[in-house]
Amino acid sequence: MFGLIGHSSSFADARVKARQLGYDAFADGDLDVWCTAPPQLVESVSITSLTGATIEGSYIDSCFVPEMLSRFKTAKRKVLNAMELAQKTGLQITALGGFTSIIFENFNLLREQQVRATTLDWSRFTTGNTHTAWVIARQVELNAPTLGIDLGKARVAVVGATGDIGSAVCRWMAESIRVAELLLVARQQGPLEELRDSLAGSSRILPLDLALAEADVVVWVASLPKTLTIDEATLRKPCLMVDGGYPKNLDSRFSHPDIHVLKGGIVEFHTDIGWQMMEAADMERPQRQLFACFAEAMLLEFEGWHTNFSWGRNNITLEAMERIGAASRRHGFQPLALSPQSTVHSLVA
Ligand code: NDP
Repeated sequence: MFGLIGHSSSFADARVKARQLGYDAFADGDLDVWCTAPPQLVESVSITSLTGATIEGSYIDSCFVPEMLSRFKTAKRKVLNAMELAQKTGLQITALGGFTSIIFENFNLLREQQVRATTLDWSRFTTGNTHTAWVIARQVELNAPTLGIDLGKARVAVVGATGDIGSAVCRWMAESIRVAELLLVARQQGPLEELRDSLAGSSRILPLDLALAEADVVVWVASLPKTLTIDEATLRKPCLMVDGGYPKNLDSRFSHPDIHVLKGGIVEFHTDIGWQMMEAADMERPQRQLFACFAEAMLLEFEGWHTNFSWGRNNITLEAMERIGAASRRHGFQPLALSPQSTVHSLVA
């Protein structure tokens, strides 16, 4: 059995969901009440691969909401409690979705293996980042040409380049796609220099505004402040923006017909899944579309690879991306693509 640990994208959304599920006390409760809420196993599903194999799994809501990010102890407790519930439920491989993998890494939860009577078995959990990185890289590879962007001549900016997903995407862009130049964006200079020196091909470290002004493609793999403003007049046209961060809120910032925002790290399954859990995640086709990190747990279950396939930081290899990518295709997942109507303007222009 596979597991998915997730959370609502805001406190307001979480209250609406609680009301729908009949948890009125939580729906009416304030953030302090939510801080005490235990994780909930919300839904169980069975899904069938293109190969015909069927697997079963469950979705656990950690009852964490992004408004709790500054409450370190609460955030930690939410993630650990959800992992404990996954393990006690007997889920063999569980993906840490949304902010939960970032909380796990940034708050060093490896030191907190004991949760009450349960010793967490790390091999039962995956961040899902290898599949997410592969999906984002493929989204660039497949969609840039539909806008007339030749990747062999293109500059690709990666915002969050030194992160777990960002560094893997950079390696894929440099070695598998061989883009003309990578523009690396993050806040800390040391890791940026280390990354630049490790990459094949040409790459430069730039501040965000300068990178945006030069880029034909921008991959966003950082959680950026809501207050960030971008002047679309300074961007190249056409420009492909792959919004791989969480939450996904870039599309509302652009209106120019030659700036194309694609939700990054999202896959579409070959058939309806028959679940409710993606309804609140702002997907166009919530019955088939899901986060690539969740799909990684499903892939590991389909393949019988009961191991923490994606774990730690900046360990993702191109071989692992290819391996999970091949499994993704085999079982019927496809990276989300731009709609054909949205690409017409840039191709004609
Ligand atoms: P990491 O914490 O490993 O990396 C974050 C990266 O972003 C680092 O390079 C960091 O570098 C950079 N960064 C953070 N803040 C800023 C900023 N204000 N400006 C520029 N760079 C910044 O995270 P992951 O790689 O694990 O995840 C990246 C994003 O992808 C997250 O938003 C996560 O929620 C999302 N995600 C999406 C998934 C999906 O959609 N399917 C699945 C999993 C994750 P520095 O600190 O030096 O700035």
